[in-house]
Amino acid sequence: MSVSTDLITLSAAQMADKLAAGEITSVELTQAHLDRIAAVDGVVHAFLHVNTEEALAVAAEVDAARAAGQSLHRLAGVPIAIKDLIVTVGQPTTAGSRILEGWMSPYDATVIEKIRAAKLPILGKTNLDEFAMGSSTEHSAFGDTHNPWDLDRIPGGSGGGSAAAVAAFEAPLALGTDTGGSIRQPAAVTGTVGVKPTYGGVSRYGAIAMASSLDQIGPCARTVEDAALLHELIGGHDPKDSTSLVDPVAAFAAAAADGDVTGLRIGVVTDLQGEGYQAGVLDRFGEALDLLREAGAEIVEVSCPHFRYALGAYYLIMPSEVSSNLAKFDGVRYGLRTLPTEGPLTIERVMAATRAAGFGAEAKRRIILGTYALSAGYYDAYYGSAQKVRTLVQRDFDAAFERVDILISPTAPTTAFRLGEKTDDPLAMYLNDVATIPANLAGVPGLSLPSGLATEDGLPAGIQLLAPAREDERLYRAGAALERLLVHRWGGPLLAQAPDLAEAASLTTTGGDK
Ligand code: GLN
Repeated sequence: MSVSTDLITLSAAQMADKLAAGEITSVELTQAHLDRIAAVDGVVHAFLHVNTEEALAVAAEVDAARAAGQSLHRLAGVPIAIKDLIVTVGQPTTAGSRILEGWMSPYDATVIEKIRAAKLPILGKTNLDEFAMGSSTEHSAFGDTHNPWDLDRIPGGSGGGSAAAVAAFEAPLALGTDTGGSIRQPAAVTGTVGVKPTYGGVSRYGAIAMASSLDQIGPCARTVEDAALLHELIGGHDPKDSTSLVDPVAAFAAAAADGDVTGLRIGVVTDLQGEGYQAGVLDRFGEALDLLREAGAEIVEVSCPHFRYALGAYYLIMPSEVSSNLAKFDGVRYGLRTLPTEGPLTIERVMAATRAAGFGAEAKRRIILGTYALSAGYYDAYYGSAQKVRTLVQRDFDAAFERVDILISPTAPTTAFRLGEKTDDPLAMYLNDVATIPANLAGVPGLSLPSGLATEDGLPAGIQLLAPAREDERLYRAGAALERLLVHRWGGPLLAQAPDLAEAASLTTTGGDK
């Protein structure tokens, strides 16, 4: 392996240590990632925009500051990729949609301000399903992202670009957003770690809103400790987000460092397994439970009887909020403007032509569904009922957390499916989120980490830990402990078993078979 290949396979924490010790510079580290992007992103397509010059300039700044003896953030100089739903000055933000193609934000999201203040070079913006609607990244207006484990398969969604970038060693860290699972499910199918923080734990200011009562920005990484470090950096109160919690950010990285499950009561959600779950996913899940038991955790079964209605409630509440949040994309204020080809040039007709041309099929489907659910006459039957179910799901969590400290389930029912397999079947696509959605409805935090490779297809499966609101720290403590046990069993990180992408990329560029 070349020096730069070795560098990019380190964890973000290890990179930070090498930077602090003066063994490497941030310019070297950032260049190594840019080289990797140049080498493999042609086949992965995780990035919509690569921010070469600015990333190297920030890296040089970090190196100079370090040489001058300035005190720096632990992650200073460690590069990061950003889901293209989060607004950034100086780089385009598309939300994966034609309607925002070429749009440049005049301001930074709060999480971006924090990342800039801590001096993490931003490598670029990653691909996603349009406005974060989807589970496969196939709803992006700018092409598919490919799963680094098997380039014919989906990387999950909506944040498939961020997860694939991290899995393909194009970035050690990335930001995602999770409305119904878009950080955790891509993590599960790419063998990476993803966390949806407690609702309000990370500012949403500058994350283009999909469904405001469900959306949450969170970390994508290759280890639990790395996710904890990034979460600590981006978390905390923000007066610009009225739903932001005022709590101080807990010591997530310290919790990950002393990862422990001794005496922890862990509840297996019986409603999130069984029918529809792939055998290999359940096998790896069961083995992880055995490891936790051997390590001193108490494993009990817990039923959350209303979880079975969560998916249905989500697919009414989320589109209702989508229909309202996406009303502002009208050809007047942002991005695309399309003029009607015939008839009078009225403002309504310009808006209609712009929205017809700018939104993809899934965005339109959800806008129509949400508008219908909110319409007078149907409001109580659909939106009102869904909100009641949401309360019942929250009560299931409350009751479960009286009995146990954390809950556990597979993250997604299956491993990565093939590109194109579910694009014509929205309901099959929606079913991917069956295990991740309850956390968004209740606002509680969730962490996904790899549980191993499913025997039948050799692809990564994910395991999800859930904690009560504001107890994200528990996820890092337990998640890091489980990760340690699993890595020991695998004899090294799971991603070390992923195929060599550089080879696939060179075969493609030389015209060989994939
Ligand atoms: N896959 C889910 C959906 O399509 C979740 C999306 C998300 O979390 N942004 O709505």
